[in-house]
Amino acid sequence: MKVIESKNELKEYLDALRADGNTIGFVPTMGALHEGHISLIRQSQQENEVTVCSIFVNPTQFNDVEDFKKYPRNIHVDTELLTDAKCDVLFIPEVEEMYGETIKISPDLEGLDQKLEGSFRPGHFDGVVEIVHHLLQAVEPDRIYMGLKDYQQQLIVGKMISSLNMPVRLRAVETDREDSGLARSSRNSRLSQAQKNDAAVIHKTLFLARQALEEGIDIETIISDATEEIEKFETKLEYFKICDANTLEEITAYDPLRPTVILVAVWWGEVRLIDNLIV
Ligand code: AMP
Repeated sequence: MKVIESKNELKEYLDALRADGNTIGFVPTMGALHEGHISLIRQSQQENEVTVCSIFVNPTQFNDVEDFKKYPRNIHVDTELLTDAKCDVLFIPEVEEMYGETIKISPDLEGLDQKLEGSFRPGHFDGVVEIVHHLLQAVEPDRIYMGLKDYQQQLIVGKMISSLNMPVRLRAVETDREDSGLARSSRNSRLSQAQKNDAAVIHKTLFLARQALEEGIDIETIISDATEEIEKFETKLEYFKICDANTLEEITAYDPLRPTVILVAVWWGEVRLIDNLIV
């Protein structure tokens, strides 16, 4: 695996591969890699000749300084994991390299960035959109791979791409889960084993909510049952919402013909977890 720190070197290296007719798949991450990230790498490998992974803990998308400081970092283990997964290129820029020269962009996100995560983490999606745009300009991939685990994020990146007419296709990849159903996340490493076992209730609750929706139970009841289930543990639920899967508007009645998603964010002790389930 080729490890590259500068944008110029990356461009030179990838231009040569592109000139030989290779397509490039790109997986942006913040490191502390796990099987979920590797599933994105695998999907990219199936669809492209060359796979580039970036690791960059982007300061501008953290609305909470403590979260940024405590974000798990382990570049040596990550490099080994990516080498084992046969990733072709690892791009690990420094902050100055990514934010040296900045182009102001203003994609039309149709208000998606203000909802759900956006309202609990002000400025978060400004940071996400900014860094993904910089990274896309540096890598110029044919396809970018993002996890459905961060449902709203991949929706917003898709809007940015279409709004700015960027020549890249977004591929959204299924959420990879532990056997218990808990969605894999870098932040899970900050949970104790007991907390991880308990947090499996998040997926269970999403699953039951989906079942209840399909059975025609009213949304208010579904949300209050789910809230009660999650709040049995030492948690602080930020939201449990049932939304239109494209606009993220909350729905008041389930229509099987309308794409729907159930989204949840909850503080498990000191760790904030998010998950979702498409109906
Ligand atoms: P992160 O390092 O948390 O910024 O995640 C990098 C990419 O991996 C994002 O597109 C995430 O949505 C995706 N990702 C994170 N966890 C998972 C998971 N459990 N399953 C699939 N994709 C994931």
